[in-house]
Amino acid sequence: MTLTTTPSTTPSTTPHIPHWIDGARREGASGRTGEVTDPATGEVTGHVALAGVEEVDAAVASAAAAFLAWRDTSLARRTAMLFRFRELLNARKPELAAIITAEHGKVLDDALGEVSRGQEVVEYACGVPSLVRGGFTENASTGVDVHSVRQPLGPVAVISPFNFPAMVPMWFFPIAIATGNTVVLKPSEQDPSAAVWLAELWAEAGLPDGVFTVVQGDRVAVDRLLEHPDVRAVSFVGSTAVARHVYETGTRHGKRVQALGGAKNHMVVLPDADLDLAADAAVNAGFGSAGERCMAISAVVAVGGIGDDLVARIAGRTATLRTGDGRKGCDMGPLISRRHRDRVASYVDAGELQGADVVVDGRQVTPDGAEDGFWLGPTLLDRVAPDMSVYTDEVFGPVLSVLRVDTYEQAVALVNANEYGNGTAVFTNDGGAARRFQHEVEVGMIGVNVPIPVPMAYYSFGGWKNSLFGDSHAHGADGVHFYTRGKVITSRWLDPSHGGLDLGFPRNG
Ligand code: NAD
Repeated sequence: MTLTTTPSTTPSTTPHIPHWIDGARREGASGRTGEVTDPATGEVTGHVALAGVEEVDAAVASAAAAFLAWRDTSLARRTAMLFRFRELLNARKPELAAIITAEHGKVLDDALGEVSRGQEVVEYACGVPSLVRGGFTENASTGVDVHSVRQPLGPVAVISPFNFPAMVPMWFFPIAIATGNTVVLKPSEQDPSAAVWLAELWAEAGLPDGVFTVVQGDRVAVDRLLEHPDVRAVSFVGSTAVARHVYETGTRHGKRVQALGGAKNHMVVLPDADLDLAADAAVNAGFGSAGERCMAISAVVAVGGIGDDLVARIAGRTATLRTGDGRKGCDMGPLISRRHRDRVASYVDAGELQGADVVVDGRQVTPDGAEDGFWLGPTLLDRVAPDMSVYTDEVFGPVLSVLRVDTYEQAVALVNANEYGNGTAVFTNDGGAARRFQHEVEVGMIGVNVPIPVPMAYYSFGGWKNSLFGDSHAHGADGVHFYTRGKVITSRWLDPSHGGLDLGFPRNG
């Protein structure tokens, strides 16, 4: 997907991708649009509105107006709404998957998988009555009861990246809506249509206008959301540089912020591991979605002399993969944009220059797809050193680097020295080694013989270090906590025995 900002008029030859405000599609009013492309053909397929400050303000005003009534809508009614949304999504998810493939490029089956993982959060949010249930203590002091409740915050913003145009927004909005907030979603301008489709699905489910709003745009929209006084909380997912900016700006403006950033995920393979299973896992987790996953494996760490064997097994599997148009049953699709494709390829060039062995070269790929697609085939680099840019930077493409170390300790030290701490995996048949690894490694999500350990919806998703700014991870209990605030009520129903003056600090009695 390429993005070109046109300064004034909106081109009319391709579909316009609008905002969704007050329960309806709204054409852009700022005069700025971005090109949306099909990455498998390179063709411009649409123009997305890029909001100015006034459009963001209109979106937030709509969300603020809807909040009071939505907050007071009973849990029973909110739950019923979520169930209706879930049923519609489940029945129609192939439509959404096709939209994702057309704008993002990932293969259809992978797009369906993304929707299903998002749907799991909707299903979790269907349990909102028990998720927000408070506590009650009778007779905490004589005749005094105490209870706690959790209440929604108000309008909240969700700002999402290009790589999961449906799943990442669904990490957040089902729980935010279920707990009584109203949501303004600002999707990536590179694949913006999924958000509008989801808004229309909410409308079909009967959600009141203003509870779910989509404002299309770029950094102008993000910065306005971060500063807007009526936005109470921001959930952001994207690159680390922008996540840091979002966290610092949002918190400076008094908002609750969770900002999930970039990643560099290591897969540590110990000498006793089943190398066939490890090679399968490395290929699946390295090249699925063309490596454009925040939980993709980017670095394989071969421990203790297994390097040649492991590389040979990974290379053999990599050579069988078919790169091409995601609608044609290929294994791997194109990258999101020409610019991103060239950036990823430049890391392969740099690694080669710096001394890595290019074992499988995706720059030479012959794709099953149009000539102008943004193609880069699966690439395997061996003997990558920790100071090479292909290792130090997040590459976010189909490039698997193999690093070799002698010992378990060196492998853990390598992972822990990395600035990112999103996901990691260890491959071993030794339970003691796996247990030690999960205890010692400084990473938020860990797989033991599982290469992409994305937590289920009822756990929380989030990394450590530069992979997440803020205290709360996404969905699960953290999600419910993030979108609600607590109140504790201490009550006594008076009778004549409670009379009398006492200026002392209240004590239990
Ligand atoms: P990005 O940071 O370029 O964009 C993310 C969002 O921020 C988009 O909505 C974009 O419009 C907006 N944005 C971009 N530049 C901005 C700026 N200067 N100021 C304000 N807003 C700005 O990220 P991307 O390229 O869309 O997505 C890929 C990145 O997201 C990768 O780094 C990947 O690791 C990360 N990611 C992380 C997770 C996670 O869970 N940690 C999940 C998915 C993606």
